[in-house]
Amino acid sequence: MSDTVHSPPGATNVDAAELEKFQSIAANWWDPESEFAPLHRINPLRLAWIEGIAPLAGQRVLDVGCGGGILTEAMASRGAQVTGIDLAQASLQVAELHKLESGVAVDYRCIAVEALAEEAPARFDTVTCMEMLEHVPDPASVIGACATLVRPGGHVFLSTINRNPKAFLHAIVGAEYLLRLLPRGTHHFDRFLKPSEIASAARRHRLEPLETCGITYNPLTRTYRLAPDDASVNYMMAFRRPMD
Ligand code: SAH
Repeated sequence: MSDTVHSPPGATNVDAAELEKFQSIAANWWDPESEFAPLHRINPLRLAWIEGIAPLAGQRVLDVGCGGGILTEAMASRGAQVTGIDLAQASLQVAELHKLESGVAVDYRCIAVEALAEEAPARFDTVTCMEMLEHVPDPASVIGACATLVRPGGHVFLSTINRNPKAFLHAIVGAEYLLRLLPRGTHHFDRFLKPSEIASAARRHRLEPLETCGITYNPLTRTYRLAPDDASVNYMMAFRRPMD
């Protein structure tokens, strides 16, 4: 399989340069000291937060923009039946290989979330889309597709980075330039999304907001923690699709 990015037909909501960035470092997905270290470190926190709202055992779960499968595998090991989708082939190859090593069952597919929404509406009990909305041209379209993919009564979990001066300072100046937690150019400030923007896109697609929770980083102790009252930089939002 080539490492070149070939967006499948129907995948228009894609920024090829963004995908290429992830493709080029795909070999590092499972290196906990790599540029993916922050995702490894926050993984137990976000998993616990998701499970506190929607227990995963026995549930059909979709992970949108799954990358190498860090959250995808963790949800599968909690007993969920998980499908992971991404448009970066190289990342999915890494995810497939790692799955063999861990022995968990995950169904990985290279398909746009909008295309899957046409194919499988209301198929999933829970849909997660973490740290991906800030990399796509039309995040509202992704949120709409997630809303279509979840069953009535099911949950959607989204995460991204807030857009304000503090977020610029922490997520770009701090993380990319001072602490070098992420490669320079990982994030573009104008793609960051305010919780109100996510919530209004979600409401337009009939998702009901449940909870918002921040994730904060302490550079002195080098630890992350859940911060239910602080969505000023990194944050997650939980939604529920009402019963029809
Ligand atoms: N959700 C994972 C990975 C986040 S990194 C986690 O939180 O651990 C962002 C991921 O979004 C990358 O894997 C990248 O390939 C993917 N991505 C970017 N644009 C995409 C698009 N248009 N469709 C699907 N995946 C996309």
